[in-house]
Amino acid sequence: MEKKDLDWSGLGFGYVKTDKRYVSNFKNGAWDEGVLTDDADIVMNECACVLQYAQTCFEGLKAYTTEDGRTVCFRPDLNAARMYDTALRLEMPPFPKDRFIDAVKQVVKANEAWVPPYGSGATLYLRPYLFGINPVIGVKPADEYQFRIFATPVGPYFKGGAKPLTLCVSDFDRAAPHGTGHIKAGLNYAMSLHPIVEAHKAGFAENMYLDAATRTKVEETGGANFIFVTKDNKVVTPKSNSILPSITRRSLMYVAKEYLGLEAEEREVSFEEVKDFAECGLCGTAAVISPVGKIVDHGTEICFPSGMEEMGPTTKKLYDTLTGIQMGRLDPPEGWIVEI
Ligand SMILES: *Cc1c(COP(=O)(O)O)cnc(C)c1O
Repeated sequence: MEKKDLDWSGLGFGYVKTDKRYVSNFKNGAWDEGVLTDDADIVMNECACVLQYAQTCFEGLKAYTTEDGRTVCFRPDLNAARMYDTALRLEMPPFPKDRFIDAVKQVVKANEAWVPPYGSGATLYLRPYLFGINPVIGVKPADEYQFRIFATPVGPYFKGGAKPLTLCVSDFDRAAPHGTGHIKAGLNYAMSLHPIVEAHKAGFAENMYLDAATRTKVEETGGANFIFVTKDNKVVTPKSNSILPSITRRSLMYVAKEYLGLEAEEREVSFEEVKDFAECGLCGTAAVISPVGKIVDHGTEICFPSGMEEMGPTTKKLYDTLTGIQMGRLDPPEGWIVEI
């Protein structure tokens, strides 16, 4: 397979149109068989449910080349399952999980020339999404839906090393206690745009959201879960019904226990105890872990002992182990690496 002639390590995180994308339509109560197409444009009615009432959800995962030259994806079954759960909460017909994985494989195969080579730090980012497409004006779910997956090559998340981020504690809420924080709905991102623009204007990389009910407990950022390391080297991640269950975070907790022999617990984390942690990181598919050096709460600074120059030592071990598993340098747990 001849690869595209791209400056792989110079790529950013932006949309690049690739050769093929997958489309399946839901009509008259059933999904059609689905096809790969060259057409990157979607034509829909002006009153499509997605445009009026934001009935849409998405997933994100990566395809990449392992050290021994295989093209693989990381745990696509968990993306399939999460989108299934999201669809049910949004009254959308879920796309069958086995077909989701099959569609991922089809898209990666059809765009194999766009899968970056091992060692470039770049990956082929896959974006599955599902939305209501027929005209809806009285508020109700759509009757017709489209499921799509496109692929776009993305560069290494950290160019020239992972510098720790500075976050601020947000005055906005991300998710209500019985709301939609636990599903990957576009609407969670629409409402996070204003807070993130404000945070960037004030010089912060991300917002730390607290629980909406009491504003005393740590939730997550707009698009990544938190992990903390205690001074006695335990890995801790916040537990809440309004956090999006990150696949990266779940994988890191497993790696902490099973590969590194660390204690790892998912529990409520009060904002009060954040100042006592030794390390902090954000986890998600894009960066795996972004180290956090500082959190500012209305002028009061929390500075982690790991500092502003590099990842904390335990965060680094977690990062190296998970990326080692992903890239085929370490033996993966059963089912984590899916060959295309
Ligand atoms: C997608 C997402 C994450 C990260 O999940 P991964 O499965 O690890 O990519 C975290 N928080 C939110 C709100 C998200 O939408």
